[in-house]
Amino acid sequence: MHGKMMWRASDTAELYFDDCRVPEENLLGKIGEGSHIMLHTLDGGRLSIAAMGLGCAQGAFEAALQYGNERKQFGKPIVKFQVNAFKLADMATKIELARNLLYKACWLKDAGKPYGKEAAMSKLYCSEIAKQVADEAVQIHGGYGLMKDYDVERFYRDQRLLQIGEGTSEIQRLVISRYIGC
Ligand SMILES: Cc1cc2nc3c(=O)[nH]c(=O)nc-3n(C[C@H](O)[C@H](O)[C@H](O)COP(=O)(O)OP(=O)(O)OC[C@H]3O[C@@H](n4cnc5c(N)ncnc54)[C@H](O)[C@@H]3O)c2cc1C
Repeated sequence: MHGKMMWRASDTAELYFDDCRVPEENLLGKIGEGSHIMLHTLDGGRLSIAAMGLGCAQGAFEAALQYGNERKQFGKPIVKFQVNAFKLADMATKIELARNLLYKACWLKDAGKPYGKEAAMSKLYCSEIAKQVADEAVQIHGGYGLMKDYDVERFYRDQRLLQIGEGTSEIQRLVISRYIGC
């Protein structure tokens, strides 16, 4: 798959298996249970995507905080303007919430307890706040936020897969709504 706007370091390809024969000793699980096993692995995959969202948000936040302290306009660092300070406060709060949600889901998985709902919530929330935080981080960088010289330009592109891969945000909401009894 060429021409991706994001994740250019990740080599992505489509795989097709026509008349593919698998030796019996290579069988994973039982015949006929493949889709069940595949759906089960999605819960774990959602935690990974959530962790990518959290890391992306944390990286974008740190870059914005550093840049905001260094960049001076009208005689003072731009973080001293309340509008930017409040943006950073909101970013930090969202990241803290995302981290707590994800860590709880991981704790449930490690403890062998059901974690499907929490995995979907973590994936949804961490990927959505990665979008919001990366967007505000670009804004705090001003014009430099759109230049490849600065990391936020890549954070802004890379976060966009996270609301789509491993089940879109809409599908996460569908999963969560079923868990809560809709
Ligand atoms: C770079 C990249 C890497 C990828 N890597 C992998 C991978 O490693 N493994 C893998 O299996 N897949 C991978 N994918 C595929 C990815 O998981 C799918 O693109 C994703 O699940 C969305 O499916 P779709 O593209 O067919 O969109 P569609 O299913 O066509 O959805 C299009 C839109 O309609 C909405 N929609 C669809 N159905 C519903 C519904 N029932 N209710 C409400 N809204 C709905 C979606 O939320 C979305 O907004 C990758 C994709 C990309 C771009």
